[in-house]
Amino acid sequence: MSARLAPADLLRADILAMKAYHVPDAAGLVKLDAMENPYRLDEPLRAELARRLADVAINRYPAPDYRELRQAIRERFGVPAGYDVLLGNGSDELITLLTVATARPGAVHLSPWPSFVMYEMSARLAGSRFVGVPLAADFSLDLPGMLAAIEAHRPAIVWLSWPNNPTGNCFDEAAIGRVLDAAPGLVVIDEAYQPFAVDTWMPRLPQYPNLMVLRTVSKLGLAGLRLGYLSAAGPWLAELDKLRPPYNVNVLTEAAARFAIDHLDVLEAQAARLRADRDALARSLGALLGGLPGAAVFPSRANFLLVRVPDGPATFERLRARGVLVKDVGRMHESLRNCLRLTVGTPDENQLLVEALRQSL
Ligand SMILES: *Cc1c(COP(=O)(O)O)cnc(C)c1O
Repeated sequence: MSARLAPADLLRADILAMKAYHVPDAAGLVKLDAMENPYRLDEPLRAELARRLADVAINRYPAPDYRELRQAIRERFGVPAGYDVLLGNGSDELITLLTVATARPGAVHLSPWPSFVMYEMSARLAGSRFVGVPLAADFSLDLPGMLAAIEAHRPAIVWLSWPNNPTGNCFDEAAIGRVLDAAPGLVVIDEAYQPFAVDTWMPRLPQYPNLMVLRTVSKLGLAGLRLGYLSAAGPWLAELDKLRPPYNVNVLTEAAARFAIDHLDVLEAQAARLRADRDALARSLGALLGGLPGAAVFPSRANFLLVRVPDGPATFERLRARGVLVKDVGRMHESLRNCLRLTVGTPDENQLLVEALRQSL
């Protein structure tokens, strides 16, 4: 082997050209950048979780079919009778898996845009073509644009983040129905923010043979576990399961997820609190940004708020200097210029955010 062998001699050009997924250092900052639930479990529950984890045989591989966890998910998360779930190491893994499975030569993956960056990233890595259909100016679905793009590109998958990350809104249900009817391939509704939107397409799976519903426990308050699930008609799950790395969900995640599902009422109460605090935060931000030229607070059904400020990059830096980390999404897409995405935190954190923002405009 040549001593001078370097990555550039071996790796795909598209990978060499990529930038690594950048996660900013949040040390010492109020962390409102990643849609995490700010609440932890209380001390008695944490002690009980520790006992459950202590019982797990970490010398053994996971049971390959995750039968009990799948059953708990089906029962507690409203999966319709006769439908099952495929588990992923976060829903990110399921997005990759679906993309790879459908990346036949010439395949197109399509999503309204801007939306979740992983849809495009996965398509690129799988070698398929990604088509982003611009959202309307108010971030609603441009239905004629979507239908024309579906007709022109015949996508293998239409991704619909519902609510949409990073805009926070839910697309109109009748418009989604039209997309489902028009799509020649799969329509995957990504319900990562379902705990905050409450509405769901899960019960409608039997109505649409090309519908899949993707969920995660991350935004509900278990981002560290890395657990996502996909529900769809059985034959699809059976094919996709061939691609799933055999032990993609580890035994500690499996045990912790079962524990969390046993105590789902606690997480649901946290989500309800965050929904109420989201609406209160939206009102405070509206009052603060009200008269400013170009400023806006966009309606949200998620656990974050998209706002537009007069100078996004400057406000982002000033907020960080004042100890508050948010997400600057202004460079993601033309329509998001000067936009910041603010995760809803605890009431104290939200108040800190509003005060810091007042001094950062
Ligand atoms: C956060 C997010 C995910 C990723 O969830 P993980 O399960 O943590 O991988 C998927 N889709 C959307 C739209 C998200 O915002």
